[in-house]
Amino acid sequence: MPTGGPHIRVFDGVPRRTGKPLDMRTLNRTFEWRRGIAARHQELAEQLAGPRPRLTACPVCASAELAPFVVIHGFPYAECAGCGLVFSQEPPEADAIKALYSADKAKRTPQDTIYVDEALHARRVQVIAAPKVEFIKGTIGRAGGTWVDIGCATGEVLAAAQAAGWSPLGVEPDPLHAAFARGRGITIVEDFVSLDQSTHLQGASVVSMFNMLEHVNRPGDVVEMVGRAVPAGTHCVIEVPRHPSISSFANLAFPQIATRHIYAPEHLHVFTERAVELMLERAGFTAIGVWTFGQDYQELISSVAVSARLPESPFFQALGDLTNGVQQAIDDGGFSDALLVVARRN
Ligand SMILES: [Zn+2]
Repeated sequence: MPTGGPHIRVFDGVPRRTGKPLDMRTLNRTFEWRRGIAARHQELAEQLAGPRPRLTACPVCASAELAPFVVIHGFPYAECAGCGLVFSQEPPEADAIKALYSADKAKRTPQDTIYVDEALHARRVQVIAAPKVEFIKGTIGRAGGTWVDIGCATGEVLAAAQAAGWSPLGVEPDPLHAAFARGRGITIVEDFVSLDQSTHLQGASVVSMFNMLEHVNRPGDVVEMVGRAVPAGTHCVIEVPRHPSISSFANLAFPQIATRHIYAPEHLHVFTERAVELMLERAGFTAIGVWTFGQDYQELISSVAVSARLPESPFFQALGDLTNGVQQAIDDGGFSDALLVVARRN
């Protein structure tokens, strides 16, 4: 039975912020979009169907004590009793994962249709990326030097980091995203996340991985690679989908329409705070700031409505007006679906 994870909050003694107001205009996700994306994920998952090796140990803490959590589009997810990680137990092969982020339309992820848009990009930089960069700057206590963002997508965070005083450098495997970021004047290295990126990380003052570690088979190895490549005092920023959360619960209840958080085939892991703490410790980093926030309430009410095939009625819109108040209560209670951690190399 799903437990919701053994460690809701860790990072004892580390300064923590909870909650982040959500600007609904940045979401741009209609019920129709959700249904379409869920159907496309189902198709992608079917293309990747067939025998895949089944993991018998947690990819983060190596515990073999695993329990089934949920099956999404034919992909089983397990929950680790050791660190609480929820992970794809029969993940796609590495080549199939790479193809999701290639220019091949037949194999690539449908998720980016919402992100590669000029006006929406500018708004997301201002409303989503800038507050995160502000939090990181406040936690570190200064700006400046090179900020390397691994898996930078369209460069939203780097645009905000540049405005705050850093020199931006992005590493991005998706050629469409890379081209979009270059068009905004950001230097991009087109490369899939590998375990040999030390050349890109030379001289970095900040290395960030926003919503990236959930896409790679061995996330702990990537964090350790960063730890080996940078000197003491370098900062590392990690943002990942978080468990236990209300969004995890929504995915558990409505797996057939999962379009974010726990969704196959792309998200291989949804992390507990303990799992992130473990990866950072092993890589030689100490957390200095934690921020939890999310879109749990929206995920829950949208999942209920889409599952019941309800229209986007004024009644639904009125429930949406409760978003920030309810989400703050969820964040304060420890069930946010997003976790951002700032850490320093020891
Ligand atoms: Zn584990």
